[in-house]
Order: sequence, then structure tokens, then C-alpha cells
Amino acid sequence: MHRGAITHASVLKALVEHDELGREAFLAKYRFGEARSYVLVHEGREYDSKAIAGVAHKWDQGRALSADEFSGGKDHAAAWLKRAGFQVKAIKNPDWARDEIILACHLVMQNGWKGLDAEDNRVTELSALLQLLPIHAEADRNEKFRNPNGVARKTYDIATRHPDYQGKPTNGGALDREVLNEFLARPDEMAQVARLIRQGIAAGELQDLAPSGNEEFDDDFSAPEGRLLMRRHRARERNKSLRTKKITSVLQRGGRLACEACGFDFEAVYGDRGAGYIECHHVLPLHVAGEGRTKLSDLALICANCHRMIHRRAPWPTPGELRTSIEQKRAADRRAALALARPRGAADERDPNP
Ligand SMILES: [Zn+2]
Ligand SMILES: [Zn+2]
Repeated sequence: MHRGAITHASVLKALVEHDELGREAFLAKYRFGEARSYVLVHEGREYDSKAIAGVAHKWDQGRALSADEFSGGKDHAAAWLKRAGFQVKAIKNPDWARDEIILACHLVMQNGWKGLDAEDNRVTELSALLQLLPIHAEADRNEKFRNPNGVARKTYDIATRHPDYQGKPTNGGALDREVLNEFLARPDEMAQVARLIRQGIAAGELQDLAPSGNEEFDDDFSAPEGRLLMRRHRARERNKSLRTKKITSVLQRGGRLACEACGFDFEAVYGDRGAGYIECHHVLPLHVAGEGRTKLSDLALICANCHRMIHRRAPWPTPGELRTSIEQKRAADRRAALALARPRGAADERDPNP
């Protein structure tokens, strides 16, 4: 049985059965819960997308899928229904990404750390901007996505978390607080980040940087600047001609293509397959480096593991700092191994076999 191979016709049959039985009886019969993230929209009516997708399998595959065999989300039900030609709508809008909160927080800061109302021009402007950001897929948004009301609410969530605010904070998550604290600690830097995101969108540059197909990098790599500028940073690091220039310059000076943090040499370990391979890391985040030309001296040669570790958490260590922490870890491990070995050795001496 091939999960997800459902046709338009079988989905229609499931919809008919749903309408005949009624929603409750339909869900009970096939043991599905109410949809939590996506609904299928058909002829003006909304359906529990996961239940419909599961039941549609009955006609295409001989039996309905049970609820625990697949997810209702964009990996399964929502994707299958769309592929079968149906409209699927997100019930809940996605959580605010760091980039979005940075923009909202910047506005709150400019407004003297006070929230703004939905009618405010600056809120409608930000709402339009957020709808342009290439962060959340269209399919994950519903018609209220980042509308002025939602944006205004977010500005209050942030403003009421400000330490000077007297009174009970409205909602708002941990990420709101995190970004707010960064704005309070480094206002100039964070304002610069917000400006760069705005500029990148206005110039159309950030839209062109698709979520690469390697979304994992977007999520796993954290930058003080958020996801969009991170994509730009990565694009700059992957620039082929820049990488070639850097490698050539190192080789010409008689250097080795080895990781500046841990010393890993791809050719030494992998032979021919690894020859000439190394990644380039731009040591300056975009808001520090600015948009200008990349200097070769800003690029470090780094192995894939160390590169991941650098980007994993902000602030990024320099290759030198990472090298120091690798050495410290090794030294600590050696001490621990010695400490373990010693008492045992001592015990052996105290317990001679007579
Ligand atoms: Zn390394
Ligand atoms: Zn990097």
C-alpha cells in the first residue's frame, strides 16, 4: 500500500460519505480527531483534512489509513490533498520567526517601547512587509496572516514585556522576550539588523534566496540576524569564485587546505576524493560586515563539522575561539582519563596477591 497515492475521485467519494454521515459520525467511524492544523476547502465548506485524506485511501488502496499511520501536516495529508487538486488551508498561522519579531521589535523601540494600534500607518506598512517575507510558505498561511490586527497585538506583546512596563504583560512567547532583551542590550546592532532585512526585501535580494531546499540549514543554523540574512550569509560563503580565490591564495602562500579550527584535512583523510575540498566561512555576520565586497581575509577555511558548530548558536565563535575550545575540551578529557586511571592503579598496588 502506497501511502498518499490518492486520486481526486477518491477524495470526492470521501467528501460524499462525510456529508452523508455528518462530521461527527464520519470522524467516529474512522477514528479521526478534528483537524488541528489544516482544513480542506471544497465548494465553500471546510473539512477535516487528515480524516478525508485517510478515508480516501479506501477507494484507491483498499483500506482507509488510520490516524496514527500518517500526519495531517504538510508532509502527508495536506500535501496529498493538494496533489490531488484540492485547496488546503492552514487553520493556525505559523509562529513568528525571529526575523519577523526583529522587525516588530524595531518598530516598538522606535515608538518609545509602546505598542501600536492596528490603524497606525507604521503597522499597516509592517503588515504588508511581513506578508512579503519569504519565510512561511503560502500553504501555511491563512487569510489573517500577519494582518494589521495581528501585528498590532505583537507590538503590545513585546512592549508589555519591557522591564519598565508596569502591569501585566499580554501574551508573547520566549522568542519575543529573547529578541527584546537583545534589543535592550545592543540597540544599535539590532536596529542595523532590522534595516538590513528591510533593505534586502526592498531591493528584492532576499526574496531570490529561496529556502534552498536545505531548510535544515535555515533551522539549525542560528544567527543573531534571523533566517533571511543567514541565507544571504550562506549564499556569500558558497560563492564559487570567492572560494576558489581564497583557496588559491592559501595554496600560493604554501599553506595547506586544512580546517583553521580543528586541523582536519580532507585530502589527508579521504585521499583523492577529498583533494581540494574545504568550506569557506565568512567570519563576520552580515550586519557587521555590511553589504560591501567580501575581503578574502574575512574568509576562513573550515571543515564541514566545525562550520556547523560555529553557526549552530549565536554569537558565532571565530575559528580561533573554536580551536581554543576544542583544545580545552581535549585537555579536560585527558585529565579526566588520568584521574580515572590513577585510583585503580593505586588500588591494585594496595591489594597485592599474597
Ligand atoms: Zn574543523
Ligand atoms: Zn559560515
